[in-house]
Amino acid sequence: MTDCVFCKIVRGEIPAEKVYEDDNFLAFLDITPINPGHVLLIPKEHYENLYNIPDETMQKAGPIIKKLALMVKKGTDAEGVNLGMNNEKAAGQLVPHAHFHIMPRFFNDGHELWHGLPYPSEELMRQIAEKIKNNI
Ligand code: AMP
Ligand code: ZN
Repeated sequence: MTDCVFCKIVRGEIPAEKVYEDDNFLAFLDITPINPGHVLLIPKEHYENLYNIPDETMQKAGPIIKKLALMVKKGTDAEGVNLGMNNEKAAGQLVPHAHFHIMPRFFNDGHELWHGLPYPSEELMRQIAEKIKNNI
């Protein structure tokens, strides 16, 4: 896609600090990392988000994400690694080219996880599970 910043990185039109590349995927350092070594993995093809990525591409992504998590952990001496993917604006997606975040974490690094809240009732929890199951 012409105007997409990540497509431009794939085409070599803007620079990126690449850490992994194969025929289908590219991984590079995020320019505003939550910690140094925060990596983004993208499919080279332009898909807007998770929903559009073909199953075949997702099957290839799994082992690469695992490999990158270990590369990031070892390369930064991280004490943990978060995986993330923001899909759609409501979920914080800023760049509309699907990407996986691989983020090194350290004790007391100043970042929190989101805060969970218990369901108000078991009935509501059961109903929501039913609604989700109905969309398989
Ligand atoms: P998201 O909110 O999941 O869409 O995250 C987009 C991420 O892309 C942010 O963490 C940005 O720092 C990162 N980003 C945007 N432009 C670039 C770029 N040119 N090179 C590397 N990372 C980028
Ligand atoms: Zn793109």
